[in-house]
Amino acid sequence: SDSTPLTRGLPIPQGISKNAFLTAISELQSALGSENVVLNDKELKNGWYMEHPNTHDMMPLHSYEEFVASAVAYPGSVEEVQTAVRWANKHLVPLFPISMGRNLGYGGAAPRVRGSVTLDLGRRMNKILDINAEDYTCLVEPGVTFYALYEEIVKRGLQDKMWIDTPDLGGGSVLGNTLDRGVGYTPYGDHWATHSGLEVVLPGPEAQLLRTGMGALEGANTWQCFPYGFGPYSDGIFSQSNYGIVTKMGMTLMPNPGGYESFMYTFPNDSDLASLIDIIRPLRISNILENVAQLRHGLQTLSVKGFPRTRYYTGSGPMPEPVYREHLKSTATGDCAWVYYGMSYGPAHIRKYKLDVIDAEFHKIPGCKKIDPKTLPADEYFWSRDKVASGTPDLEELKWVNWMPNGSHIAFSPIAPIQGEDARKLYGLAKKRHTEAGIDLMPAFCVGLREMHLIVEIVFDAEDEGMRRKAEKCLRDMIDDAAKLGYGEYRTHLALMDQVAGTYNWNEGSLMKFNNQLKDTLDPNGILAPGRCGIWPARYRGRGWEL
Ligand code: FAD
Repeated sequence: SDSTPLTRGLPIPQGISKNAFLTAISELQSALGSENVVLNDKELKNGWYMEHPNTHDMMPLHSYEEFVASAVAYPGSVEEVQTAVRWANKHLVPLFPISMGRNLGYGGAAPRVRGSVTLDLGRRMNKILDINAEDYTCLVEPGVTFYALYEEIVKRGLQDKMWIDTPDLGGGSVLGNTLDRGVGYTPYGDHWATHSGLEVVLPGPEAQLLRTGMGALEGANTWQCFPYGFGPYSDGIFSQSNYGIVTKMGMTLMPNPGGYESFMYTFPNDSDLASLIDIIRPLRISNILENVAQLRHGLQTLSVKGFPRTRYYTGSGPMPEPVYREHLKSTATGDCAWVYYGMSYGPAHIRKYKLDVIDAEFHKIPGCKKIDPKTLPADEYFWSRDKVASGTPDLEELKWVNWMPNGSHIAFSPIAPIQGEDARKLYGLAKKRHTEAGIDLMPAFCVGLREMHLIVEIVFDAEDEGMRRKAEKCLRDMIDDAAKLGYGEYRTHLALMDQVAGTYNWNEGSLMKFNNQLKDTLDPNGILAPGRCGIWPARYRGRGWEL
C-alpha cells in the first residue's frame, strides 16, 4: 500500500530518552541546517523504485516498523559527514549511511537497528568529480546513479568511447552498489573488482578522514589507476561492513569494444542445467563467453512480462510446470526450461569466431534453440538485457515484481563454482524448500569468471503476514541447507545477516572474531550501522540483537 501509520510512534533508538534524543536532533539541525535533518514522526510512505522511501524497507520481511529510522540527515559535504559522526559519538545514537537507498531485496534504505539516524549521502553529495577520457576512469560521490553517470558520458560526447557497467536497474548508486559488492552485466560486471580508490570517514569520535590506495600519497595522479598503493590493502574492510562512511570512490570505465551483439539460447529440460553449466565453464573462463550473462529459469521469463501471477494460475502452491510451460508456448522464448542471455563484443569478424564456438558448444544439448533477435518485437525482454549488457541503464527488470500484489522480493544469493554438479545441488535444495513453502521458484545464475551467483528472488505480498512468514522460513532453510553443502551467500537482506554471517564460521568463528576486533578498534562507541553484515559493536554484542 502507499503508506502505513507509525503505530509504535517515533522510533527512538534504544538507550536514550525521548527528550535527550530530541535535544540531540536539534543540535544536529543547528549544525546541518534544520531542513537537512528530518524526524520520521509521520506515516511511512512506500512509493516505488524511483520514488523510494529512505526511512524504512518498503519490502519488509517483518513489520514496516522493525527496520526503521528515527530521522534522516542529509549532509552536504565531507565536513558535514564528520560533524554527524562526532555528534553520534557524543550522544550514542546509531547512524546508518546510505547512498541512494535502493538496495531493494536486501533491505532497501532501512537501518538494521530500529531508530538509527539514516545518513542519506546521496541527496546532496551527488557530484561526478572527474571523468578521465584517457585513463577511462571516474571519481564519484555517493549520490551518482548509474543513470547519472551514463547521461554525463553522453552529454560530454564520450559514449562512442567509453561504457559504464550497470546492474539490472540503473537507479542505484555507483558507490553504494559497489560497496555492497553488486554486479552488472558487461565484462566489467564485478563492480568491486573494477573500482579503484576510496575516501572514508571513520566512525570513531575524531571522525578521521582517509584515502585508500594511491589516494594516500599527496599529489598522486594514479588514485583511480592503481587500486593498491603501498602496505595492507584496506579497501576490502569498507565493503559489506560498518567500519566507515565512504564519501568518494574511483571507478574504471570500459572502452567501447567496437561492436556488440546479444544472443539468446533456450534449453528444453530442467535437467539440462548440469550439462549446460559444464559447457559454459571453459567458455567463460577463456573469455569466449565474455560478460556476466544470465541463465534464467523459464518461469522468470514469464514473470518478467510484468503480469500478475493470477493471469496464468489461480491455484495455491507453486505454479505447476505444465501450466507455465503451456503459457510459455505463446512467448518469444517458447516452451523451455532455461534461457541463456549473453553478449559478444568487438567488430563483426571477431564476434563471429566466438559466436560460432558458442553455437557449436550449446547445441551439444539436445533441443537447444538459438532465437533470432530479428524475430523479436521491440518490447521483448531480450532488448532490455541487450541494453544492460552494453552499458545502458534500464528499468525493465522491475516488471517481475508485479507477480504478486504489493509486490516485494527478497533474495537467496549463494555462490558456487561453475560446475554442473553444484548447480544441480543448489537448484535441488531451492526447489525442495520452495515446494514445501508453496512459493514459485525463479532462479537465475549470473556467471562470473570462476564462480556463479545464483540469485533466487522470492516475490511475496508485503501485506500478507502468512506469506511473509513462509518466505522467511524458505529463505532460512535454504541458507542452512546450502551451508551444510558448503555454499555461502555473497550478500543478504538485513533480516538474514546474522544467520548468513554465522555460516562463515571456520575455526570457531575466527573471521567474526577478527571483524569484531576491527569494529571495537575503529568504532569504540559502536555508532556506525550496528549489526550490518552480522557485525555488532561491543555494547550490542550478545545482548539479544541477533536475528
Ligand atoms: P545503497 O542502498 O545506497 O547502498 C547499499 C548499502 O551499502 C547500504 O544499505 C549501506 O549499508 C551501504 N552503503 C551505501 N552507501 C554507503 C557509504 N557511502 N558508506 C558506507 N556504506 C554505504 N543489484 C545488483 O547488484 N545487480 C543487479 O542486477 C540487481 N538487480 C536488481 C533487480 C531488481 C528488480 C531489484 C529490485 C533490485 C536489484 N538489485 C541488483 C539490487 C539493488 O537494487 C542494487 O544493488 C542497488 O544498486 C543497490 O542500491 P543503491 O545503489 O541505492 O545502494
